[in-house]
Amino acid sequence: MNVYIIGIGLIGGSMALDIKAVHPEATIYGIDTNKKHVDEAIALAVIEAEGKLETIGTADFVIVSVPVDVALVILPQVLDNIGENTIVFEVGSTKSPICEAIAKHPKRRNFIATHPIAGTEFSGPLAAVRGLYEGKTNIICEVERTAFKLQEKALDLFKAMGMRIRYMDPKSHDKHIAYVSHLSHISSFMLGKTVINKEKHEQDIFDMAGSGFESTVRLAKSSPAMWTPIFRQNKLEVVESLEEYISNLTQFKDLLINDDYDAIFEEMESVNRIKEILNGMNSKR
Ligand code: NAP
Repeated sequence: MNVYIIGIGLIGGSMALDIKAVHPEATIYGIDTNKKHVDEAIALAVIEAEGKLETIGTADFVIVSVPVDVALVILPQVLDNIGENTIVFEVGSTKSPICEAIAKHPKRRNFIATHPIAGTEFSGPLAAVRGLYEGKTNIICEVERTAFKLQEKALDLFKAMGMRIRYMDPKSHDKHIAYVSHLSHISSFMLGKTVINKEKHEQDIFDMAGSGFESTVRLAKSSPAMWTPIFRQNKLEVVESLEEYISNLTQFKDLLINDDYDAIFEEMESVNRIKEILNGMNSKR
C-alpha cells in the first residue's frame, strides 16, 4: 500500500503514524515545501521517504494536510496526477471553499472532504503523535460525490484509526465550526493579547497566572500561518459568531457596572450546564 502525505505537520504526520500502526506494510511518502520538516519526518520515522507530485499515480491514499489556502491550489494538481483507484482526502478546517474549488474536476469522485476534529496547538512533524485520532470525530462532507468503492476504502481506514464518522454539508460544517473552534481560537488569542499588553507594566500578572489562565490561552500558541487563511475563508461565519460573543461580553460588563450580582450568578449558573454537555459528548466517544 502506497500512501502520500502532502504537508507533513501535526495533522498529516499524526495520520502517517496511525496508518503505519494499522497497516505496517504501507510505504509512506511525504511531500512538503519545508525541507527541514521532510528531514525531521524521515528521522522520526513519520515517513519512509520524500515523494514527488509526479509519482502519486501509484498511490492508494493521498492525504492533503496543508494550510487551507494552499489546499485550494494543490488539490486540483493532485487530482490531475492520481490513478483511477487513488482516494484523496483533505483535512482542512474549512470545507465550503475546497468543495467548491474541485466541484467540476474530472476526478471529483476520487476525493473525500474531511475534517478530523483532533489537534493540538503545536505544528510540524515534531508535533505528530500516534493515537491523535482515537475516539475523535471525523466530519465528512458531500460523501455522495465520492465514488462508493473509494468511500468504503477511506471509511475503513478512518475506523481502523478509531475515528467516529459524522456526515454534514460543507456550509453547516463551516457555520458550526466557527462557534466551537474558530471563535475559541480568537477568544484565546485576544485574552493572551489583553494580558500581554497589561504585563508590560505589571510583571506580577505572570507571577500570579495559574492553571486556569494557562488552559484558557493554550490555543493562543497556535500557528498564525495556519489560522489566518481559516479566518479569511470562513470570514462571514466567524464575524457572526464574534458579534454574538462580543454582545455577551458587553452584557456581562453592564451587569457588573450595575452591581446586578443576582443576574451575574444566574448567568454563570446557566452556563454551568456546559459540564453536562461536555460529559455527554465524552461518554458518546
Ligand atoms: P502544520 O503542522 O503547520 O503542517 C502543515 C505542513 O504543510 C507544514 O510542514 C508546512 O510547511 C507545509 N506546507 C505549507 N505549504 C505547503 C505546500 N505548498 N506544499 C507542501 N507542504 C506545504 O499544520 P497542521 O496543524 O498539520 O494543519 C494542516 C491542516 O489541517 C490545515 O488545513 C488545518 O486547517 C487542518 N487541521 C488542523 C488542526 C489542528 O489542530 N492543528 C485540526 C484539524 C485540521 P511550513 O511550516 O514551512 O509552512
